[in-house]
Amino acid sequence: MKRDGHVHTPFCPHGSKDSLEAYVENALQKGITSISFTEHAPLPEGFRDPAPTKDSSMSLDTYYEYIEAVQALQDQYRDAPIDIRVGVELDYISGWEQQTLSFLQTHGKSLQDIILSVHFIEVEGKWLCIDYDEEVFRTYVSLCGGIEAAYDRYFQTVEKSVRADFGDHQPPRIGHLTLIRKFKKNFPVSFEWEEKAFELLHLMKTRNLALDYNSAGLRKPLCGETYPSPFLLQAAQKMRIPIVYGSDAHCAKDVGSFFDKL
Ligand SMILES: [Zn+2]
Ligand SMILES: [Zn+2]
Repeated sequence: MKRDGHVHTPFCPHGSKDSLEAYVENALQKGITSISFTEHAPLPEGFRDPAPTKDSSMSLDTYYEYIEAVQALQDQYRDAPIDIRVGVELDYISGWEQQTLSFLQTHGKSLQDIILSVHFIEVEGKWLCIDYDEEVFRTYVSLCGGIEAAYDRYFQTVEKSVRADFGDHQPPRIGHLTLIRKFKKNFPVSFEWEEKAFELLHLMKTRNLALDYNSAGLRKPLCGETYPSPFLLQAAQKMRIPIVYGSDAHCAKDVGSFFDKL
């Protein structure tokens, strides 16, 4: 089975406007037999989107349209050799677990796939979308007091996301585990961070969580590697952690990108 478990849609305010059909047609052309649409879920009410352009995710109104559109797509492609799932990429926001749980309690039943991801981190009372761009990342690093502290805070937050208990509505998969490395060519590191990432894998194993094997970093010039980094993927394989390839495509042509290489 060729599965792409992490795909965005025209409902993403920071993605392309390529149609859902275009995503599916690209997937079919590449021989993909299973695709999860995982649009960024609405942020909790009252949480201010930290992205400078305020376009991190869908509004709640758009969310309903999104679910309906993917369900209609499932009907449309019922006889095609592809399984289409409707899901979300859900933000883990430290301190907002209750609101996140409430989203899951309300909407979890209609979702067939969920990725739990960290994009937002608070430092000194300021929230930052750490993967927004290099400038925001630089601000994040400087507020943290250096790149090592920035890695530490990132992995601590991912650890909280792995430990977060959403009960019956637990998202089954952790998104782009090493997103902190998105701009790594301009933020080289000389300290040991690998151990912390290994510990996260162990924790994921005990929590029965799967890993998003995300190819987006390969398309980012300052990154050039997958999330997680290759040595972590090998470790996850040895530990028998379920691994789900995800293109993290924000345009139709990126569906399945690097699938064969990975
Ligand atoms: Zn996105
Ligand atoms: Zn993401």
